[in-house]
Amino acid sequence: MMVVFSDLDGTLLDARTYSFAPARPALERLTGAGARLVLCSSKTRAEMEVVRAALGNRHPFIVENGAAAFVPCGYFPFSWDAHRRQEGYDVLEWGVPYARLRRAVAAMREEGLPVTGFGDLSVSDVAGLCGFSEEEAARARQREYDEPLLIDGGVAAEERAQAVAGIRGLQLVRGGQFWHLAGPNDKGKAVAALGQLFRRRWPEARLVGLGDGDNDRPMLEAVDVPVLIPSAEGEARLRLPHLRIARDAGPVGWNQAVLELLEEVEGRSA
Ligand SMILES: [Mg+2]
Repeated sequence: MMVVFSDLDGTLLDARTYSFAPARPALERLTGAGARLVLCSSKTRAEMEVVRAALGNRHPFIVENGAAAFVPCGYFPFSWDAHRRQEGYDVLEWGVPYARLRRAVAAMREEGLPVTGFGDLSVSDVAGLCGFSEEEAARARQREYDEPLLIDGGVAAEERAQAVAGIRGLQLVRGGQFWHLAGPNDKGKAVAALGQLFRRRWPEARLVGLGDGDNDRPMLEAVDVPVLIPSAEGEARLRLPHLRIARDAGPVGWNQAVLELLEEVEGRSA
């Protein structure tokens, strides 16, 4: 039994086109082998629901950089302690509610810091900034645990904003285009918790993780088989024991790495 935890952008999805088409052969083989694919992204739940529907994926998934895990009700054939139940999901939650993040943004402004969050922007603003359609921007703006921020004041302002976040028990980390204000969640905690549930169901489950970014590191540390997808921007700096590195970026590398893993498993059981 293989449980595959996968990042989306730059990993299962092409960093530019957001297509997973090159990974189709491996996706089909995973399904045929009875493996479970758990999507684990910094995207919002609204964004991830669209990707899950496109993939026909009905497995648990992890949103907003490990802030919460959504497990379809009844997915595991035993009772376990979720933090809450919401719209057909049992939810595990590590993130800080969005309203608290917005209060921290207000506190930064009161200190005179020139910060702008998604909550201050219209759907059209977000669409323009991110190169999204209006529909995509609306989904990206449905944030529950993470506020993308623009900080317009150089390193001094960035450091002061980080101090305000730190006092409030929050973290402010630089992403690609935006800074991200969030609680102390990361992908690793969420993957470890779901991994335990899968192991309770399938004690022999082998946990695989695939990711391309710095924020994937805690996820890759929490699995048995970490696979680094090289990023188009350059060499990733991950150093982990047993780390496998895919040969290509995005879904091409994902496809090749997953097919190799499946062939190894089949080779062992043959
Ligand atoms: Mg990524």
